[in-house]
Amino acid sequence: MPSIATGRHFLQIPGPTNCPLPVLEAIARPTIDHRGPEFKRLAGTVLEGIRPIFGTCEPVIIFPASGTGAWEAALVNTLSPGDHVLMFETGWFASLWRKLAERLGLKAEILPGDWRGGVDAAAIEARLRADRGHAIKAVCVVHNETSTGVASDIPALRKAIDAAGHPALMMVDTISSLASIEYDHDGWGVDVTVAGSQKGLMLPPGLSFNAVSPKARAASVTARLPRAFWDWEDMIAANASNVFPYTPATNMLQGLKVAIELLQAEGMDNVFARHERAARATRAAVAHWGFETQCADPARHSASLTAVRLPEGHSADALRETILERANMSLGNGLGPLADRVFRIGHLGDFSDASVTGTIAGVELGLKQAGIPHRGGGVEAALGILAGNA
Ligand SMILES: *Cc1c(COP(=O)(O)O)cnc(C)c1O
Repeated sequence: MPSIATGRHFLQIPGPTNCPLPVLEAIARPTIDHRGPEFKRLAGTVLEGIRPIFGTCEPVIIFPASGTGAWEAALVNTLSPGDHVLMFETGWFASLWRKLAERLGLKAEILPGDWRGGVDAAAIEARLRADRGHAIKAVCVVHNETSTGVASDIPALRKAIDAAGHPALMMVDTISSLASIEYDHDGWGVDVTVAGSQKGLMLPPGLSFNAVSPKARAASVTARLPRAFWDWEDMIAANASNVFPYTPATNMLQGLKVAIELLQAEGMDNVFARHERAARATRAAVAHWGFETQCADPARHSASLTAVRLPEGHSADALRETILERANMSLGNGLGPLADRVFRIGHLGDFSDASVTGTIAGVELGLKQAGIPHRGGGVEAALGILAGNA
């Protein structure tokens, strides 16, 4: 094997994703004065333009941080020490958010899940009905569980909370769904939406977001968890004059402006349809190979990634290693209990039919090279979907 990788690297992990060249070019432009007139124009455009991506008319707060920072910001702005939050164990990322909540001094209760389905709205409703004294202050869920490839029904969760007549805030992590899978912060009655730059938004890692409802902002007035860097009201006040309370990630905001323009030009409905189609093509290949997806609920398959279970006795990590070395393609690893059992194919952000096809072909090639038993012809099955013949 030659030691040098040739051709364009296929970054097909479920985030960070491939960045379009115009976005990278915008980030590479000279850094500008973050208090000058050019920056104010940029900030104004970005702070306005990001709202429809979340489906909100309310403020969207932009932090120079990875998604984890926006998780923390959502909690510290709205809650007080010892507050009870209710979560649902969709997988690895839901479990991480819970651990973060515990480290902040919150009482985080997680309803158990089997990592193969979405949020069980009926179980949440039952738990909230039992909470007669309204001790639970927030319900926090992951929209698209990136460890399993399951997208949950957020409007159903809203209905469940309302049916229980419970006042808890509803918080949703959309880090791997925003700008890939339909989402409507205002229309779905979400109080805090958490997002990151490096997945559907097609930017490098480094920015994260909170979209906040009036109810969430009202909660922040009395919330007593300590916060300084993450404080929403400092941000909202500064953003009103198109500046930030501390140095913003100016170059990333230059990239975000272009990413928003690209999404607007394509049209969000087309963006969602493109992801859905790539997901269907990928699942057609997986089914043809004879493998199961980690998502066991046909109604809840993610449009942004597919987690594939290898048959017992075969190493998903060895397969990924073969594919990286021989095809110059990165796939996502199995997380937590799914380590080595599952590999994840990212189909989100910036991609074409050719990149989807190339990804599936690279996986099938790797299966052959790694000697993993499968039925050949998954690529053909995927082409059928992409060509519209299936
Ligand atoms: C990627 C991801 C995160 C973690 O975000 P970081 O940017 O790594 O901090 C959290 N939740 C979900 C659903 C994700 O996909």
